[in-house]
Amino acid sequence: MIEIFTQISYVLAAALFIFSLHWMNDPKTARHGVFAGVGGMLLAIIATWAQPAIIVHHVWIVIAIALGFVVGVPLSRVPLTAVPQRTALSHAFGGLAAGLVGTAEFFLWLNEAPHNLTTFRMTAIIAEIVLGYLTFTGSLMAAGKLQGVKWIPQRPVTYPLQNVTNIGLLLLAIGLGIALILNPAQAWSSTAFLAIIVLALLFGVLLIIPIGGADMPTVISILNAYAGLSAVAMGFVLNNKLLIIAGALDGSSGLILSIIMCKAMNRSFVNVLFGAFGQVQAAQVTGEEKVYKAETAEGAAQLLEQANLVVIIPGYGMAVSQAQHKVRELYDQLKKRDITVKFAIHPVAGRMPGHMNVLLAEAEIPYTDLVEMDEMNTDMPQCDVALVIGANDVVNPAARYDKTSPIYGMPIIDADKAKTVFAIKRSKNTGFAGIENELYFSDKTWMLFGDAKTVVGELVKHLS
Ligand code: NDP
Repeated sequence: MIEIFTQISYVLAAALFIFSLHWMNDPKTARHGVFAGVGGMLLAIIATWAQPAIIVHHVWIVIAIALGFVVGVPLSRVPLTAVPQRTALSHAFGGLAAGLVGTAEFFLWLNEAPHNLTTFRMTAIIAEIVLGYLTFTGSLMAAGKLQGVKWIPQRPVTYPLQNVTNIGLLLLAIGLGIALILNPAQAWSSTAFLAIIVLALLFGVLLIIPIGGADMPTVISILNAYAGLSAVAMGFVLNNKLLIIAGALDGSSGLILSIIMCKAMNRSFVNVLFGAFGQVQAAQVTGEEKVYKAETAEGAAQLLEQANLVVIIPGYGMAVSQAQHKVRELYDQLKKRDITVKFAIHPVAGRMPGHMNVLLAEAEIPYTDLVEMDEMNTDMPQCDVALVIGANDVVNPAARYDKTSPIYGMPIIDADKAKTVFAIKRSKNTGFAGIENELYFSDKTWMLFGDAKTVVGELVKHLS
């Protein structure tokens, strides 16, 4: 009876996970996606817990769940701008869990029932621990780099023969793994197993150190894929079909997201996989002092009023200042005057994929006015005013032609093609890539210096 309940619950949970991913495709249904994911996970936990072999360990399970809450609740409260590192931490925990389960299963069977260590199981265990432990340290490093932890260098760390060393380490771990698969219960098996763990942990660190901060989000989604694959292997070890399905969904969605981000940042996927990229060049020092033209909110409001098409380009600064609600007020004021207002959404604006969509959705700006970069770019020459709110790298024209620029090749929103540009930022500081933006020095650009929320608030005041 319990077995039937478990299997039906697993099928339902798998369906909920699939719907969850499907609903995440669209901001309108994303909330349903979150609930479906949570529901599926809850059902999976209850169904697993209810099994007779497991329920006898309920004290341990309650302790584990309580510990999960202690870690999970504060993690859920991080600001939206810190979500990439929070996500990396989740992958680290997922990888560690898979690694620990694989280790426990191996030693349990080795000591009590070595005949259970079949070739198939051993292959799954080795895949699980290699992927799990490398995801653990790799994700911790990635989270540390994004958080700006002092003792983890943000800049790429490179040394001669780096790729050879990395691939050599991985091959050594795989070689030991094959030896173990063929001879699981020898006197040296435990030592070889522990050596594989150490190599995987080390490989995770070495994989991430040559990668610069700007490429970290792509790396995080690759680590997501690794965590998913280690869960698949864990599913085979534990003979749990739901784990196999959930891991496969996790792994493939991570892989698809990495490919989308690589395309958006014009990175080669192969380079990302081998961790040999991310060298951020130092900003060029030309010696010549460039001049910005500043404008007042009042002057900008007057020009905005006369426009037919206004394109708002939000970036990381809008997120920092939490200006989205003021932006909504500005949108309402302009719409009242029959001005067409569109939001140009760059796929990597902000600090996580979909960052701008989430913020603008929070301010209930109609999705129909959120336009993808490529589609918006075709209309930019007709745009009367481009209003850049806390965006920098994603509107830097150097990406189009300056081969020495670290962002060369990254598709950008062509703000410079608009008739007039207003750019809101607090200072002359650079953006994430650490490079100057010539858009700000262009003849048609006027700077509105100040915090995004304050400046947009002033624009609204002058318009109302
Ligand atoms: P940038 O980081 O390039 O620029 C943000 C700008 O906002 C800065 O120039 C800053 O200037 C300004 N700013 C900061 N705080 C405020 C504030 N309170 N009010 C007004 N302005 C503010 O952001 P973009 O969105 O243009 O580009 C994103 C960058 O991040 C890209 O390089 C991308 O590759 C990278 N990245 C993207 C991720 C993603 O998945 N989306 C993840 C990680 C990195 P000032 O200090 O003068 O105010």
